[in-house]
Amino acid sequence: MRGQLWEQFQLPSGLLGLVRRAEEKVQVLWEEIRRRRAFNQGKVLRAFLSVGVEEHHLVGTTGYGYGDAGRQALGEVFARALGAERALVSPQIASGTHAIAACLFGVLRPGDHLLFATGQPYDTLRGVIGCWGETPGSLRELGVSYSQVPLLPDGRVDVAGVLAALEPRTRVVAFQRSRGYALRPSLTLEQLRPAIEAVKGARPDVVVFVDNCYGEFVEEQEPTELGADLMAGSLIKNPGGGLAPGGGYVAGRSDLVERVAARLTAPGLGDRVGPTYDFLRPLFQGFFLAPHFVGEALLSAVFIAALAEEMGLEADPAWDAPRGDIVQAIILRDPRALQAFCCGLQSGAAVGSRLRPEPSPMPGYSDPVLMVGGGFVQGASLEFSADAPLRPPYAVFLQGGLVLEQAQLAVLFGFKRLQEEGFLDEGFLRRIS
Ligand SMILES: *Cc1c(COP(=O)(O)O)cnc(C)c1O
Repeated sequence: MRGQLWEQFQLPSGLLGLVRRAEEKVQVLWEEIRRRRAFNQGKVLRAFLSVGVEEHHLVGTTGYGYGDAGRQALGEVFARALGAERALVSPQIASGTHAIAACLFGVLRPGDHLLFATGQPYDTLRGVIGCWGETPGSLRELGVSYSQVPLLPDGRVDVAGVLAALEPRTRVVAFQRSRGYALRPSLTLEQLRPAIEAVKGARPDVVVFVDNCYGEFVEEQEPTELGADLMAGSLIKNPGGGLAPGGGYVAGRSDLVERVAARLTAPGLGDRVGPTYDFLRPLFQGFFLAPHFVGEALLSAVFIAALAEEMGLEADPAWDAPRGDIVQAIILRDPRALQAFCCGLQSGAAVGSRLRPEPSPMPGYSDPVLMVGGGFVQGASLEFSADAPLRPPYAVFLQGGLVLEQAQLAVLFGFKRLQEEGFLDEGFLRRIS
């Protein structure tokens, strides 16, 4: 970062030295992220070339959306880039939760058993499954039983525990790649691969499902390339490239994607209906740009972790730890510090810089959440954003950053606010002044 920005934004001069140190520290990792981004860009470009995307594919349909060549081509581009037999990409999918729920409801039938292999699932999925017992319309209500195998104390998948928890009626074994709002390591492909192989080895009939939210293009392969049968994600996260105004995708084995499509629209119609309106252009362009912006988000995450550590704050994951998602937590251990930091972050948002985030209940979440937004699409989290559920240890989960420099500045605004409100200790302030 350049010194001029300090004067322009009136940042505490003492922070400049720390930013320089953090940047120096992460250089080697930044190089690695750029190398990986080039590989993934090549993969996506190859998918576009092999499908032969043309100008006319960018024009959508209305009404039923019959014969929508663009929708078809978009699904093929996703499938090829993600190493899947088939993919369904739709602006009618409202969120990641919707895409995942469609997969589970598409595959599971009354009497079946669902096993989560990565411990407690993401907040909004607990209602889908019926972990709390009483959500109307949940899988539990349908007669699907559920159990989960906690992660080992070091955060790895307990493969032996998962094999032991398989029941004769187990139909789906699910893995969550990202940490969500939990302080656990994200699931790297190095761990996912042997876990999938073990489950398929023991029970070839079981469907391995992966919640791929925040995972796309973080590593050089996707779960479907490692033998996962089905996966899903949100287009306002990684694969939308910051341009998709909404939507979700499902990818995997052709027969399973067909079932999910039947659930999303209607049996017999599947993915042969579904208008794309004016969405095709941003969905194609966003997917094309996705590896680039996921790389930018990773450059941001690594820098934020390194800077937090320079400031004596706990970053999780550590700046140089392996990553399977784009989420970076900073642990603040104080609800007021959390609020101050989030207000600082919000003040660096391109849209909504004058808003003041307040904790509020969110549909599907059990604790009130402080949400820092400020992107161009509501809730978009490949754009720089942060969420902080109001529960100990009062961690803020930062994600995204289409532009490294903006993520850097927003985080500095957050630290400045912590300093102004007296949350950084005296010794630290003396050291940097
Ligand atoms: C974001 C996310 C989801 C789905 O969330 P939506 O807000 O519904 O898009 C599911 N699982 C994980 C791990 C996530 O990060």
